[in-house]
Amino acid sequence: MALAEFELIRRYFATAELAFARPGIALGPGDDCALLELPAGMQLAMSMDTLNEGVHFPPAADAAELAQRCLRVNLSDLAAMGAEPLGFTLALSLPTVNEPWLQAFSEGLAACATRYQCSLLGGDTTRGPLAITIQVHGLVPAGQALRRAGASVGDAIYVTGTLGDAALALPYLTQRPGFDMAALTPGDRALLQAAFYRPEPRIDVGFALRGLASAALDISDGLASDLNHILQASTGPTATPGAIIDGAMLPVSEVFARLLPDAEQLPMALGGGDDYELCVTVPPQREASAKAALRAMGLRFTRIGEVVADSGIMLRGSDGGTQPLQVNGYRHFGDDGNE
Ligand code: ADP
Ligand code: MG
Repeated sequence: MALAEFELIRRYFATAELAFARPGIALGPGDDCALLELPAGMQLAMSMDTLNEGVHFPPAADAAELAQRCLRVNLSDLAAMGAEPLGFTLALSLPTVNEPWLQAFSEGLAACATRYQCSLLGGDTTRGPLAITIQVHGLVPAGQALRRAGASVGDAIYVTGTLGDAALALPYLTQRPGFDMAALTPGDRALLQAAFYRPEPRIDVGFALRGLASAALDISDGLASDLNHILQASTGPTATPGAIIDGAMLPVSEVFARLLPDAEQLPMALGGGDDYELCVTVPPQREASAKAALRAMGLRFTRIGEVVADSGIMLRGSDGGTQPLQVNGYRHFGDDGNE
């Protein structure tokens, strides 16, 4: 690489803006390992996500936006467990050393790291096709993490925010034929751009729902597919629970409702990926507390259905009738694993 690797790391990553001091971090980047200090009674929550060019983001995506997206999708996993961000490691594969790109990437990453007080701990920098892997580390009081397992028959199902905006954004951002960015108002454009590149990790929601939600996850593959993960993880001694979802209750944004033809709205709200909203189940006796906690945050928190004994996910129409829902999340590998 044109710029010596250690100089590149010093200039763009091991910076005061990114690798800042904070409680819990005894040593950041520069040595063979970082050192973490875990307070007594806390568990370390860890999660990793890779974003590959052309798979998870369009080629030539804006570097600062990309950095935001990478860290945010990882932070979303901490949020879904009810964990507090501590730090992250970064494995970066770069085709070339492009300093303006690195500068923008570093700034986008620093803006997000500072906002969520998640400091860069270290990483690895290599040459190859553009790929970004982040591993986040967070803290959660021992035994209080929100797990996928734990939903029971009778629990209500809630989602935060709105569904489908990121899935709606993608064809516009990639300028797919038939989707004309020029047709959007500046406000629409800003909203769609943010929905895809700057999903909001619901850290505060995860905190607030500790002890209230029976199960939780963040929606990355689409509501139906991810809700199915909760149901499968919550299998009891005799059976796997199912769910009934009210199609009319699914929360969508004003832009989503205006831009998407009516017939396409329900499938996209149910199946569109990349929302990074939380889907949680709440036992009936804790619903009022959970709703009050979320209302205090000024965030949409919508009851979309309930957990039932019969397995599978059913969709309830406005006439009260139900029909089985096809669950198709995004898959990198087909059923035969050969794709
Ligand atoms: P090693 O020789 O042990 O493999 P490296 O040369 O990969 O070490 O990294 C040297 C130091 O720089 C380590 O502390 C590592 O965590 C840090 N580092 C490397 N790449 C990055 C990066 N992209 N962001 C932050 N820290 C990095
Ligand atoms: Mg190394």
